[in-house]
Amino acid sequence: MSDQEAAEWHVSPVHLGKRVDLADYDPDEKGGLRKSEAKMRLQANLRRMEELQELMYAEGKHALLIVLQAMDAGGKDSTIRHVMDGFNPQGCHVVGFGVPTEMELDHDFLWRVHPHAPPKGYVSIFNRSHYEDVLVVRVNELVPKKVWQARYDHINHFEKLLADSGVTILKFYLHISKDEQKVRFQERLARAEKNWKFNPSDLKTRAQWDDYMRAFEDVFARCNHPWAPWYVVPGNRKWYRNLVVSTAIIEAMEKMDMRYPPAAEGIEGIVIE
Ligand code: ADP
Repeated sequence: MSDQEAAEWHVSPVHLGKRVDLADYDPDEKGGLRKSEAKMRLQANLRRMEELQELMYAEGKHALLIVLQAMDAGGKDSTIRHVMDGFNPQGCHVVGFGVPTEMELDHDFLWRVHPHAPPKGYVSIFNRSHYEDVLVVRVNELVPKKVWQARYDHINHFEKLLADSGVTILKFYLHISKDEQKVRFQERLARAEKNWKFNPSDLKTRAQWDDYMRAFEDVFARCNHPWAPWYVVPGNRKWYRNLVVSTAIIEAMEKMDMRYPPAAEGIEGIVIE
């Protein structure tokens, strides 16, 4: 890639108004980059993320919510490890959403989510999210169709509320191929220190692959907005995935147009003895 192309390289959210067919998105995509080049750029991105996070904290006007969704072994944990490393842990909250508890099921589906929305100055990272309620819940018919169908609107209203309250929302679908999932599962089975990551129930989800793809496509059709965009991130190559996610985060944070707050009055005359 030439310097000119490199300077212009940026990531695009799913196009608005366009119905996504995930078969059109190549999980092997690498954006014309070499691994070594991508890794160098990631390091630069991580440094920039730290600067922007500090600025966001200092200014105290914006917050950032990052939603990660993927099929099993799609790389959510690894993205958190490698990309969110760019954030100071003090200003960053990672929350995983598993099978809801009985108490959570007794409430509306967003009840357990809202308390984890980031306050001003902070970053929240959702490892799975409220989208499970229109993904796993839909595919397995855990509630009647009428109930999950209404949830797209509920999600849109919820995210609009957050956005109107100063939260920048970025949603990443880490897109791996079914073959890549097989390789990753096999590795989990073959290596003793990775066995714990393999859950036999993952095979059931794998068998429902096509149903999940349709469910994701509906999510992109129904819940993709300028204030809460979805990115389909090519996920087979981890180094490219990390670069895409970190670049999208930086592009969004730079648009926040942040400023350090003015110094306290009289500060210029202070001498530290
Ligand atoms: P992960 O697979 O992300 O590493 P876990 O092993 O804790 O984490 O799995 C979380 C499980 O919780 C997934 O199978 C996911 O589908 C399920 N889950 C998350 N949200 C819901 C929900 N709202 N209803 C039913 N199952 C859910």
